[in-house]
Amino acid sequence: MRNDEMLLIPGPTPVVESIYEALASETRSHTDPRFVALYKSAIEKTRTMLKTDGEVFVISGSGTIAMEMALVNTVAAGEKLLVISHGYFGDRFIKLGKAFGIEVDVLQSEWGKQVDPVEVEKKLSTDQFKAVTITHADTSTGVAANLEQLVPIIKRNGALVILDGVCATAAMEEDMSKGYGNEEAKIDVVLTGSQKAIAVPPGLAIVAFNQSALAVREKMERVSAYYCDIYNWIPIMNDPSKYFATPPVNLVYAFEEGMRLVLEEGMEQRYKRHAAYGTAVRAGLSVYGMKALADEQVAAATLSCMLYPDGIDDASFRSALAEKGLIVAGALSHLAGKAFRIGHMGNTTVEMLEKAIVLIGETLDEQGLSVNINKAIDAFRKHALAVLNN
Ligand SMILES: *Cc1c(COP(=O)(O)O)cnc(C)c1O
Repeated sequence: MRNDEMLLIPGPTPVVESIYEALASETRSHTDPRFVALYKSAIEKTRTMLKTDGEVFVISGSGTIAMEMALVNTVAAGEKLLVISHGYFGDRFIKLGKAFGIEVDVLQSEWGKQVDPVEVEKKLSTDQFKAVTITHADTSTGVAANLEQLVPIIKRNGALVILDGVCATAAMEEDMSKGYGNEEAKIDVVLTGSQKAIAVPPGLAIVAFNQSALAVREKMERVSAYYCDIYNWIPIMNDPSKYFATPPVNLVYAFEEGMRLVLEEGMEQRYKRHAAYGTAVRAGLSVYGMKALADEQVAAATLSCMLYPDGIDDASFRSALAEKGLIVAGALSHLAGKAFRIGHMGNTTVEMLEKAIVLIGETLDEQGLSVNINKAIDAFRKHALAVLNN
């Protein structure tokens, strides 16, 4: 591994050697048949991962572009959008919607909690919403949305389900062929980025539209976008030898390899592995007197937001960890200074996470806390066992 540091933040995530190699391949023309074949394969693999019968888009941009593409192609100015927000990234849809003249209503949970599905049902019964956004794992709080509860309610009320999977896709179940309760209740749009659980360097936006979402786009006379208009991209996605805007050739090589690794592991195993990582990391860190912001029943598999025990200073804790080669992220908004966020997704290994538990213990000890590192490792291993034995 050429990585000198363990990048355990909620994206970007550690990049493995074969992906670096793909990234460093010779840059070819975007119309070279060898590149076109790879782009096709990357799109096909994305389609397989999400099990969609609709259209998949893999384009230059970060996760935020993917959010924008999902929104502007489904909800027009003056139409209504409901945002279900479990934190900072859920809230991003409010600003995005407003920027395009969309009428935005919002249900926000207290940070660390989920929005009550009863409130969602109530809100949807008062008004006709064109679409509802759900953040699968909110990267600010470590809260996961309960799709089993939310999708049927939204579909029953005739709105599209737009799922922000930027911190979840390839780690938490996102199966666009799955009927939630009944055959009609499916996720309509999934959007994500390359740099989180897919574990490829940042730079690609990935969006999938099912047939219902495509039908909604068809009824829209115009959309407030050019680069993000899916009608400019559908011909390219179906035949990548065509040109609309130059694709990031090397990133597509890397993404194709990243997707190969995802499918090689298999989706079921990937979901199981990430669920075990999340529980194991939180179990280990709780031995040090740290508390996850989200209760275990609502906690994301991909990252955890951990509240500091008394007496730990955020800046000196994280810089001491960085000196030992472990990078974690600070908390956002009102939690800044009071918590840190640790990512445990993508191609991160059990060995890396166990090492992180040890380094965090050593750092807390240096900062004057009395900790039991062996006990934390035991707690971590107990929950990570399912993965270790695989
Ligand atoms: C990271 C993230 C985003 C934003 O993605 P960028 O690539 O930074 O634009 C959006 N939603 C969620 C849930 C995220 O974790």
